[in-house]
This record gives sequence, C-alpha cells and structure tokens, in this order.
Amino acid sequence: MENRYARQEILQNIGNEGQQKLAKSHVIIIGCGALGTVAANNLTRTGVGKISILDRDFVELNNLQRQMLFDENDVGEPKAVAATRKLESINSEIEIIPIVKDLNHTNVEEIIKDADLVLDGTDNIQTRMLINDVCVREKIPWVYTGAIGTSGMTMNILPGAACIRCLYPSIPKPGSLPTCDTMGVLNTITVIMGSMASTEAIKILLEEAKPNNGKDSNLIVYDAWNNSFDDIIVRKNEECECCAKGNFDYLNSEDREVITSLCGRNAIQITPANTKEMNLRELASKLEHLGSIKCADFILLFKLEKYEVSVFRDGRAIIKGTNDKNVAKSIYARYIGT
Ligand SMILES: [Zn+2]
Repeated sequence: MENRYARQEILQNIGNEGQQKLAKSHVIIIGCGALGTVAANNLTRTGVGKISILDRDFVELNNLQRQMLFDENDVGEPKAVAATRKLESINSEIEIIPIVKDLNHTNVEEIIKDADLVLDGTDNIQTRMLINDVCVREKIPWVYTGAIGTSGMTMNILPGAACIRCLYPSIPKPGSLPTCDTMGVLNTITVIMGSMASTEAIKILLEEAKPNNGKDSNLIVYDAWNNSFDDIIVRKNEECECCAKGNFDYLNSEDREVITSLCGRNAIQITPANTKEMNLRELASKLEHLGSIKCADFILLFKLEKYEVSVFRDGRAIIKGTNDKNVAKSIYARYIGT
C-alpha cells in the first residue's frame, strides 16, 4: 500500500523513526481560528497521531477570509466540530478530538494535562497566560503565536526556558491593545505564522528544538508587508513570577466565576469558580413553583418567561434568551445562587 508520508519520511530531518514518534504524539490546539486552522491542517497531514482542537465559537462568514478549513456550508457550526469533520476527510488514520469549550482557569489543567505539546491559536493574552501557567508547571512545551495587521510572532516555550511572563510580566489593560476585529489582519500572515508554529511543533515533538544557552527563548517576529524578519533572544528572567518563582497567578485566579458569551446562540454560560457537585433534584424542588422544570441526573432545564436555563451538576449553567452577561449573572444569582 502506498505510504501517505513517503515524502517526509525521506526527509533526513524526519525519517521513519521520526514519523513513528509523530504518530505517538498528542497535540492540543487552543483556538481554531486563522492560526489554529492552519496548524491543524499542517499537523493532520503530517500524521501527528492525536490532535485535540478546542474552540468555543461558531463559524461566521467573516472568518472565511483567513480560517482555512472552513467553507460557506460550515457557517453557524461550532468551529471545533467543522474543523474535525474536514480534517478527518484529510487523514482518517489519526485521532482528532473536537472540544467545544471555553478555556478558563477551572478547566485548563484537565484539558491540557496529557498533551505532549500545546499550540496557541488564541486571540487574547489572558488565555495565553493561563496556558503558560499550566505548561510551565506541568513541564509541557507550548508554542506562542500571534498575528495582527501584516505581522506576526512566535516563540517556543520549552520546559525550564524563558516563558511568556519573562516576555510580558503583566497583562495590558483591557481595550489597550488593537485586536484583529479593530485593526484587521492579512490572511497570508496568519498562514505564514501558523506554518512557522507548526514547524516548531514538529521540531519539538522530534526533540530537535532546544532552548538558547539552555534557558533563553527565541521570539521570531515577521512582517509580511515589509519583509522584515527578526530573531530576538528572550532571556530567562530569574525574577519571573511564573517560571522562576512558581506563582501561577492565572491558574489560581480568585475570580468568582467565568462568564462566557456563547457566540451566535443568544446565550451566556456561567461557570462558578469552585465547581462542586450539586443536587439538581433539590434545586428542582425549589424552582418548580416558578416555571416549567425538567430534571434528569445530569441536567436541569428551567424555563422562566423568555429565558431557558440549563444547569449542570458541576454548577455550570447556560442561560438562553440573552446576550447580556449581567442579565445572565443576575438570573444565576437569583435562581441558582452561589
Ligand atoms: Zn518566565
């Protein structure tokens, strides 16, 4: 039978042994937008044995300009699901796992813990700090990648070497940085950066990527419009709160809860900070005089006026009928409580 990996197995850098290593690897791609779809496509064709794809959003028409796995038929579908379907038709010999979730401090450890490598396809620094905390603590390599306008950057964060908080000690204020929504992004830069990150991922999985001087990292910055390419050494900060002192602030966030708007569904999800097993039947008996209730072992459905509330045993709730986080919070506080 013809070997689908023939062209890369004859590459000296990979070979048959390298191919087998890739087949035994598990990569998690956090965020399946422009960078994530490019990386997922590359790594699927490369034959990485297990690929998990996490994204909480749905495909929208304005994504098609740069999110290379999607087409018009996918609009309205969860990105992780649409991507998985496309990737399975490209390579049915590997395992691809869609995860339709919001990554936050309450679930990040569980999701990342058995990965050999984490690829950053997110669009915000908060999530990157969270990935950084878990990966530094659990000694899992991750590849930071970002793109905006016509330029992008990528940095490998290998266990023991300079981390993202050596580069950015703190998070800029909300709204102070431009985003792809406010500034725009060229689709070729996301393809280039997504491919650079995929190349680094392959090198890391083959144990061919090493930190500079054993502890520094390299930040690659490329501008596709000016053709400028910089390789900047990021020194390990011996005072770094994360990789030097072991303060995993983002992971140990004291935020009471995580509130997520479920894009395109007119719904808000609330995940309490300290999830604990709830007795849904007990809750149902408190609510039954207020509206219609359906209760099973794992889920309680509660209709109240124009809202539909689903409560899960871990305390998580989805409030349908609003896009307003405060309305959702108030419904949660009034009917479920904390
Ligand atoms: Zn650090």
